[in-house]
This record gives sequence, structure tokens and C-alpha cells, in this order.
Amino acid sequence: MATKEFKAESKRLLDMMIHSIYTHKEIFLRELISNASDAIDKLYFRSLTDQNVGMSREDFQIQIEVDKENRILTISDNGIGMTQEELESNLGTIAKSGSLSFKNENELTDDVDVIGQFGVGFYSAFMVSDKVTVVSKAYGQEQAYCWESEGAEGYTIEPCQKDTTGTVLTLKIKENEEQENYDEFLDQYRLQSIVKKYSDYIRYPIVMDVEQSKLKEGTGVDGVDPEYDTVIETKTLNSMVPIWKKQKSELQDGEYNQFYKDKFFDFTDPVRVIHSSTEGAVTYRSLMFIPAKTPFNYYTKEYEKGLQLYASGVLIMEKCPDLLPDYFSFVKGLVDSEDLSLNISREMLQHDHQLKLIAKSLEKKIKSELLKMQKSEREAYDKFFKNFGLQLKFGIYNNYGADKETLQDLIMFHSSSENKLVTLGEYVSRMKEDQKYIFYASGESVERIEHLPQTELVKDKGYEILYFTDDIDEFAIQMLMQYQEKQFKSVSAGDLDLETEEEKQEAKKQTEENQDLFTSMKEFLGDKVKQVRISNRLKTHPVCISSDGQMSLEMEKVLNSMPNDQKVKADRVLEINASHPIFETLKELQHTDKEKLNAYTQLLYTQAMLIEGMEIEDPVAFSNEICKLMTK
Ligand code: ADP
Repeated sequence: MATKEFKAESKRLLDMMIHSIYTHKEIFLRELISNASDAIDKLYFRSLTDQNVGMSREDFQIQIEVDKENRILTISDNGIGMTQEELESNLGTIAKSGSLSFKNENELTDDVDVIGQFGVGFYSAFMVSDKVTVVSKAYGQEQAYCWESEGAEGYTIEPCQKDTTGTVLTLKIKENEEQENYDEFLDQYRLQSIVKKYSDYIRYPIVMDVEQSKLKEGTGVDGVDPEYDTVIETKTLNSMVPIWKKQKSELQDGEYNQFYKDKFFDFTDPVRVIHSSTEGAVTYRSLMFIPAKTPFNYYTKEYEKGLQLYASGVLIMEKCPDLLPDYFSFVKGLVDSEDLSLNISREMLQHDHQLKLIAKSLEKKIKSELLKMQKSEREAYDKFFKNFGLQLKFGIYNNYGADKETLQDLIMFHSSSENKLVTLGEYVSRMKEDQKYIFYASGESVERIEHLPQTELVKDKGYEILYFTDDIDEFAIQMLMQYQEKQFKSVSAGDLDLETEEEKQEAKKQTEENQDLFTSMKEFLGDKVKQVRISNRLKTHPVCISSDGQMSLEMEKVLNSMPNDQKVKADRVLEINASHPIFETLKELQHTDKEKLNAYTQLLYTQAMLIEGMEIEDPVAFSNEICKLMTK
């Protein structure tokens, strides 16, 4: 009998399978089962209109058999089968499948990872077997045919005997090698778990005869020692109905939680389950979870975002990153769509229109669920925000603010008046009639900001302040620029515009009268400050540092703490409280003792820096100065 050669590109793919060092060889079973399931789909579809098929839904099944001794694994289906021509064209060539066109473009070299990312189809059988035999009888045909191949050399096709319609795949499992254990594919437990892992949701029963030990009757009771019989039972390995295909009303919280924990390796129940079925431009089901805890590696590079992706119940990608934007990377879950092809490659998925539609619609679902939680279950939302709020703020900052609209209603900050986390919407709804700005103050912690001199007057005038305690906060707000047309204003920068007309006049007068004093103080401080001036934000404290321009002191701290050679510096302004007794002292010294004025100026500047949590240049000089003051 003549051996036929494989078509060139098939040969290359086959070669790659045979010599593959790919570690997840187990996926061959997924591929073969999914082919079997497709073949059954076809015949089942036929049976709906063709009386002659004579089969109903329950008659279909996929069967796995193991012959350990002879190293034979068999996978049979009673699907549509293949004619001689089909065997030739389907198995002799890899024709249309998407993975091939990608492979053509990208040269089949040693790219072993390709295997993990594609549905590689029938040829994956050669990852685990020396010889593959396909006996198939197509629906409506009398004659069955046998296709056989031992690898890249070629294949044969000849007529053979088979009574029923369908296909039997016989794999001669390879001998173990130094680095590879192939025995596992002959082990009933291992096979069961592979089926569970990848093909649990195949819609037809996948059955296998499994050995089970059963208690012998009459033993194990009334003091009789237990004895066991080994019995063979035909077991259905897959559950067939995936949880996400069930109706919400059929499911209890407990079932969702258990599924989440099993599937995504968490010990804690999720805070939120988002289960939905969507029809329209693209049809899909999704089941998503928001974890109750931050994964230990969440804020590191090791963390991989993504949802499991199923095409018609078959897992095609463990973590599809394109389904989730970075700012929702904490979401776990899966998507199952009938509109996706099983053989789609990762690279092609990225450009897949359907997938983009799904991703957009998932994003909306996640956002609306979060908003719902924010409104109706505030405590849970607070907890969620403590876990993942930082990621949302990063999301506002990243991509030059492109996603700020999506995220601005989700973020929260500590409020000076409410003493808890509040949303921007809540802040704006409470704004006073004459209030122009959304005020904020930055610092290391709520406690520290609470004591900042700059917050005193703003609070005193009855305005709420948002406390920015995360490094990213000010950067994110700069991207946001405004919320509901209200601009953000730092209590430590620029003109707060809080004074009455009278107060403004008074300040102007003071400034004019004391211009000399400020000029001297600025000279003493040199480059440390850009300006010394009367403050319009202080109440009981004598001095503070404010910043002038885009960069705040907090931003300076954050940027300089990053591994970066170039240090930045915010423009500092030393502000003096004209109604503080110290101011009188300074005015006097301006005329009587310049040296002392210099010393006091340095002290006041250093104090203001300390209050801001900034590093001071010379702590020793500072304490020496203070000692000098204390010594008679
Ligand atoms: P794909 O499934 O992506 O088309 P495969 O290489 O896995 O690629 O299979 C090639 C073709 O062989 C399938 O499209 C199908 O027509 C046919 N085929 C494979 N397995 C079976 C089977 N068990 N029954 C019927 N046809 C099959």
C-alpha cells in the first residue's frame, strides 16, 4: 500500500508536534475531544431535519478507552464521521484553520509556545503518540476507511471494517523518555482530571470505564473485616452544564463561591459575582468575580490579568488579557462565546472584532456593578476600594487620562468633614454656594494632613477638604483636571481666594508696608525659596510652605523617591501669618537686629519644612540654633 506524503506545511506542523518539548502536552486530549464534539454537533444538527439519522440527543457520546499494557488510548465518537476524501483532505493537510495562517506568517521554527496558544487540532495527537490510527465511517456511507500515520513520513488510507457511523481514534502512546513521562496519559485518574480541566463543559457525555473498588457485600459490618472488589464502571467524566450556562435563579451564592474558589485558587469568597448573558452584536455569557482580598502579588509585575476564554464551552485560553482593561485587572472569571472560533490564535484574538466588543461590554458591566455596590453596599465598597482603589487611580493617570471618564465616579478620598471615604460626586453635592473649588490636601496620612497649618483656615470657613494620602493621587487629579466642571485646588498652592474684600485690602496693605522685611528674608533664604509673602491660608500657625506652579511638594517627594537620577524641585514660597505675634517680632528685628532676623528666618523655614514632612538640609544646625535660643 502506497504511503502518501503530507502537504508541506502539514509536515512542518507535524514535525513540530513530534519533537515538541512543550510542557502541556495534555492538551492533545482537549483537541481530540473537541473535534469529536464538533462531529457530533454536525450529525445532531442533521438529525433535526433528517429522519434517517435515527438518533436523538441522548444517544450521542464520546468514549475514552485505555489499554495500559499495549499503551493504547482510544477516543471514539458517534458523530458525522469522515469519507475517504475527507480523511485525505482534513487530516492530510491542515487547511483553513486560523492557526496555520498565523504560522505561515511567522515561520514555524522552534516556537514551542505556539502550541500553548493555539488550538493545534488533530496533529497534537503526535505530541504523545508514535502512531495514530483514525477509523471513520461517514454518515450515509457503506464503507469505512482507515487513516494511519507514524509521523512526518506520511500516511496511508485504506478501506476497513466499521459497523456504526462515527470515528475511532487510536493512539499508540509513546514510551517514557528521560525527561518525559507518557504513562500519565494511560492513567485513568490523570485522564479524568484532564477531561475535567479542559472539557468539563462539552455538551455530550465523555464516558470512560474506570476501575473502582467496592466494599464486598457482608464485609465491613458487624465486626467483619472490610474486603473490596475491583469493579469496572462506566463513568461520565464531564458535568456538561457549566455553571455559567445555568440561570441565575437556579444558583445559590454558595455554588458561585465554591466555583470561584476551586477555579481561581482563592480561600475567600468573592465580594461580588457578576453573572450575565448577553445577546446582540456578539453573543456571550460571562461570569466574573471581584475578590475580597488583594492577591499578594497584585501590585507587582508578576501579576497577570485576564479572563478564561471559552469558545462554545471549550477552554481556549487560560488568561485572555485583552478582555480586561488594566484598571479592572483584579477581576477574575470567564467568558464563553459561540461567536469565537476554537482555533483562533492569541495574536489574532488581539485584533478580533468580536473580542473587542465583548471586552467593551464587560467593562461596562464591571463598572455598573461597582457603582451599584458603592450606592447600596457602602461598607463592602469601602473594603473593595481599600483593596483595589489604587489601581483605579492609576487607571485615571495612565494613558494620558484617556480613561478618566470611566473611572472618576469610582474613586474616593478621605473627607475632612465626613471623616470617611467619599466620592467626588458626594463632595460636589455638598459644596457651598459660593465655593469655587474642590479643595484637597496631600500628605502621608490622614493624621498628618489633619494637622497641616494650611488646612486650618479652609476648614474654618466651612469647606470640606479631600485628603490625598496615596502617591498617585495628585498625579491622577492633574489628569482629571476637573470634576463636574469644578476645578481641584490644593490648600497648599497658589491663591485660595478665600478672603473677604476687607481681608484682601488688609493683606495688600501689610505687603506694601513690609516689603523690606520680605526682601531681607528672601535674601537670607537664597535659592531655598522663590518668595516670602503674607499668607492668606494660615490661622493660628506662624508660617507655612506653599508651592507655586504645577509641581507640589508632595509630587516632589514622590518623584524624588523613585529610582531616577534627575531630582526635581517644587517652587517653594514661605508664607507668614500677619496676625501671629511672631510677625511683630520679625518686623522689629528688621530694624534692630538683622543677624537675629536671619537666624529666625532660617528657623521658621526649617519648621515649615518639617511640618510638611520634608527633609531638612542640616538638622544639626537647626538644633544648635534652638539651643542657642534656649541658653541665657
Ligand atoms: P480543526 O478542528 O481546526 O478544523 P483539526 O486538525 O483538528 O482542525 O481537524 C481537521 C478536520 O478534520 C476538522 O475540521 C474535521 O472536519 C475533521 N475531523 C477531525 N476529527 C474528526 C472527528 N472525530 N470526526 C469527524 N471529523 C473530524
